[in-house]
Amino acid sequence: MSYYAKPIANLIEEFAKLPGIGPKTAQRIAFYIINMPKDSVNRFAETLLEARGKIRYCSVCGNFTDENPCKICSSRERDATTICVVENPRDVVAMEKTREYKGLYHVLNGAISPMDNIGPDDIKIKELLARLKDNTIKEIILATNPNVEGEATAMYISKLLKPFNIKVTRIAHGVPVGGDLEYADEVTLTKALEGRKEI
Ligand SMILES: [Zn+2]
Repeated sequence: MSYYAKPIANLIEEFAKLPGIGPKTAQRIAFYIINMPKDSVNRFAETLLEARGKIRYCSVCGNFTDENPCKICSSRERDATTICVVENPRDVVAMEKTREYKGLYHVLNGAISPMDNIGPDDIKIKELLARLKDNTIKEIILATNPNVEGEATAMYISKLLKPFNIKVTRIAHGVPVGGDLEYADEVTLTKALEGRKEI
């Protein structure tokens, strides 16, 4: 038998499904919400639905967006000759926070990981190659995470890019090895970007 009224138990169960939220925190948030004014709860629920409903993948770069193509892809102020390849939309945010990078992005939506059964066809590599057809791209910066999967993905893509006449670089190991790009601070990430080497 549950200690909670059913709707509260359901709420705790939903919060406990979120990343980084254990049962204790889930319980705390659930009780907090029950104590919130009803209109605040309505606003919260609407915000959730609106975000999930309006956000989709940019058809060009694969980043999250509410307009297609996204703001970065359609901006005239970006350097359209450079693409920075990252694993997920959170990495784009991390790169943008450095304010150093002015090129375009390509979001792979994952990394090659044989252990998790994720192969090259499961991430957006084909879509990256398709962007190279009109010869405007001069450099591709591989900014996948500096862990086993990220390195394997960078190596795989660099081999595919060999036949193209494009400079391919890998960000420097300013980002701690095994760490995630999204957790690197702006200074570290800027250094990693500046110290990129051709591969
Ligand atoms: Zn885009």
